[in-house]
Amino acid sequence: FYSNKLAPLDASRLQINKTSTPKHKLANDQLVFGKTFTDHMLEIEWDAQSGWGVPKISPYHNLSLDPSCAVFHYAFELFEGMKAYKDANGNVRTFRGDKNMERMNKSAERIALPTFDGEELIKLIDKLVLLDKDFVPEGAGYSLYLRPTMIGTQASLGVGIPSKALLYVIASPVGPYYPTGFKPVSLEATDYAVRAWPGGVGNRKLGANYAPCIKPQLEAASRGYHQNLWLFGEEGNVTEVGTMNAFFIFKDLITGKKELVTAPLDGTILEGVTRDSILELARTRLPAEEWEVSERYCTIHEIIEKATKGALVEAFGAGTAAVVSPIGNIGYQGKDIAIPLARGNSGEYTAKFADWIREIQYGEEEFQGWSRV
Ligand code: PMP
Repeated sequence: FYSNKLAPLDASRLQINKTSTPKHKLANDQLVFGKTFTDHMLEIEWDAQSGWGVPKISPYHNLSLDPSCAVFHYAFELFEGMKAYKDANGNVRTFRGDKNMERMNKSAERIALPTFDGEELIKLIDKLVLLDKDFVPEGAGYSLYLRPTMIGTQASLGVGIPSKALLYVIASPVGPYYPTGFKPVSLEATDYAVRAWPGGVGNRKLGANYAPCIKPQLEAASRGYHQNLWLFGEEGNVTEVGTMNAFFIFKDLITGKKELVTAPLDGTILEGVTRDSILELARTRLPAEEWEVSERYCTIHEIIEKATKGALVEAFGAGTAAVVSPIGNIGYQGKDIAIPLARGNSGEYTAKFADWIREIQYGEEEFQGWSRV
């Protein structure tokens, strides 16, 4: 949408202004997801005349924006979620940040915000993480959650292409999603509200996709369920779980062959980095003669039928926050379907995927350069 003569995002122009009042760091057991932030933040302004400005790392601070800004009225906002981990040698590592940059650029392109060279933003994020490395908590399940964000900051109520934007990154130390180990979640299969639809923007990480999902979640919670299992269409295709991609493991009752199933990237599914990682690990590490790995539609009726016959082996959600989240129960039209949990709180393969990913994230295992020191 914009002239390619504008200044590109350039990490070498970074200016750093360090805090003179470092914050008190919380003990691991006091960390609450997304409530406290590190000493610094990264900001880069963009405007349609000159392009990307000087990247700045400065003390964490409030933003001052004109109330007419595009972000406040027409949802010119997109974000990413990724994590930095401390390994056994005290190095800090990020996990597949290149995938987050790719997705962030796709989100920006979709709402006419400026795109950028992802590798340059990664270099800047590295600088921020390094400066605030004492905030990265140690221990399995602990990490620094990184929130790259972009907003349209043009001060005007006109509905149109933003002429100004702000890209910023904040960082929050977080603990394990399940401090006492896996806890299976209970889902309500939701067909009266839809998260995303063909031709929509469900495959982009736009803030506008999230606010409308809270009310259905509260409704599911009022009936005793943790999350929504989002269905789509007359057939009842399973799309996602809350803010995670959904996986099911089926087994052929005659041959014993197993199938790992997740919804295809048809435009209604968020292109999860964890989803992609699970598919890649499954394709490279599970024996092909015993497993099929499928990106295909799967309906709630198939799940009920397979669960009834004993052909549903396990189910889980996958996302950056919880990594993998075992599913223990699905409610649909007033009836509950119990999902097997062979290990008490999770299935065997759910636990295996969680271990595989954790080992790579914490640098215990190298895999395809996914973890970057
Ligand atoms: N689906 C939705 C709707 C999400 O918000 C997320 C979290 N980003 C995911 C799936 C999982 O994506 P990822 O593995 O990249 O965190």
